[in-house]
Amino acid sequence: LAKNILEAMKFIEANDVKFIRLQFCDLFGQNRNIAITAMQMERALASGIPFDASLVVGFPESRQTDLVLCPDISTIQLLPWRPQQGKVARILCDIRYPNGDVFEADSRYILKETIKQAEALGYQFNTSADCEFYLFKQDENGDPTTIPTDQAGYFDLAPYDRGENTRREICLTLEDMGFEIESSRHEAGRGQHEIDFKYDDALSSADKIMTFKTVVKTVAQRNGVHASFLPKPLMDEPGSGMHIHVSLSKDGHDIFKNNSGILGEDAKHFIAGVLSHVKGMTAITNPLVNSYKRLTGGKEAPRHIGWGFGNRTSLIRIPMESDEYYRFELRGPDPTCNPYLTFALILAAGLEGIAKKMVLVDELKLGEDEINKDPLVADTLQELPITLMEALTAMAADPLMRTVLGEDLAEKFIELKTAEWMDYIKTVHPWEIDRYLLTY
Ligand code: GLU
Ligand code: MG
Repeated sequence: LAKNILEAMKFIEANDVKFIRLQFCDLFGQNRNIAITAMQMERALASGIPFDASLVVGFPESRQTDLVLCPDISTIQLLPWRPQQGKVARILCDIRYPNGDVFEADSRYILKETIKQAEALGYQFNTSADCEFYLFKQDENGDPTTIPTDQAGYFDLAPYDRGENTRREICLTLEDMGFEIESSRHEAGRGQHEIDFKYDDALSSADKIMTFKTVVKTVAQRNGVHASFLPKPLMDEPGSGMHIHVSLSKDGHDIFKNNSGILGEDAKHFIAGVLSHVKGMTAITNPLVNSYKRLTGGKEAPRHIGWGFGNRTSLIRIPMESDEYYRFELRGPDPTCNPYLTFALILAAGLEGIAKKMVLVDELKLGEDEINKDPLVADTLQELPITLMEALTAMAADPLMRTVLGEDLAEKFIELKTAEWMDYIKTVHPWEIDRYLLTY
C-alpha cells in the first residue's frame, strides 16, 4: 500500500474511527456525503467508491451516471460533535470516471486546474472569506422560523447578544478541526453573526468554507437554533455576505502590497480583470433569487461596480493593511455560492487582466448612499445584475465563464438556474397582492 494510505489507516485505527464520511461539493455548493465503515476504507483509498451521480445536482443525467469518489487523504478530519467512542471522520473527495479519468465538472478539480495555471505563471493565490449568517428560533417541531434569536446589533455583548454560546461552541469546534479563528462577533442584523478564520491557499480555503458551513449549521442545531446563510432572510435587516479576501504573490512579492494607497501595475491589472468579468460571474457568486434582494437592498451590500481604498460599500475594497495581510476584498459574493467555482473565476479573471494589461478605472470614492442620492453620478456607473435572470444572461455572454467552468458545466448551470428563475417568476407573491389587489 502507498505510504499515505498506510498513514490514513493508522490515523483511523489510532483514533478509533468507525465511520468515514466521503464528502464532495455539488454544482450548487452544497456538501454531499456517503458514509462508509472503517473496514471499507482501505478499498476506498485504493480504488475509490463508486456512486450513481444521476441524482446529484449538476452532474451528468444520462450519458455516464457512474462516478467514483476518490478520497483526498490530506483532508481527513475527525468530526468533534459525533460520538467520541467509535468516532466519525470525514474526507473530502475528488471525483473521477470509473476508468480513472478526472470528472471535469467537479468543482474542486476546476479550482485546482485554475490554480495550476496560475502557478505555471509563478503566482501563488491565497484567499479567505468573511462568512455572515443569521441564527433563527426554531418552532415547536424543530423547524426553522425567521424570528431572530436576539435583538442585538453590531459588536453587541450579552445580554443583548444571545448567540454568544453558540458562537463560542462553533469557534471551538472549528479550532478542533484545524481552523485558526481570527475573530467572531455579533453582526449588524438582529440575530446576525460573523466568524472569521485565517486565510489559506485557495483550495484549502474553499475546503474550509465548506467545513465552516457544516459546523455552523450543526452546532446551531445542537443548541436548538437554526443557522441560515440565506443572503437576505429579513427585508429590513442587512443581508449576509461572504466577502472574499484575495492575495496574490509572485516570487515572494505581494502583488497587492500598496505603498500608502499606490497600487502596483499587476495589482491594477488584476483588479481591472475582476471588474471586467464581475457581471459574468455574478450568477456563480450570487446564485439564488434571494441573493439579489441583498445586492439591491443596501445596508453595506455593494450594487455598483467599482473599487476603492477602505470604502466599505464598494464592490472591491482595498484595506490599508501591512505585512502578510496585503489583499483586496470582493464584497459581492454571498455564502450560498460554490466557493471552488467562485475562487476559480476570480483568479482566472484577474490573471486575464494581468495578461491583457487591462486598465483600471479611477477609484470610486463615494459610498452607495451618496451614489444613490445623486442620479447623475449613478448614471455614470455600471451596476451588478439586479436579478438572477440578468446575471444568467451576463454569464452566458461572457466567454471566460465557459473557459473556466467548461462548456457543459456552464450550460448546465444556466439551464438549471433559468428553470429556478421561471419557477419564481410564475409564482404569485404576497407583495403583488398587497400592492395591487385593492386598486385593480
Ligand atoms: N452584511 C453586509 C453585506 O451584506 C456587510 C457588512 C460588513 O461590512 O461586514 O455584505
Ligand atoms: Mg461583516
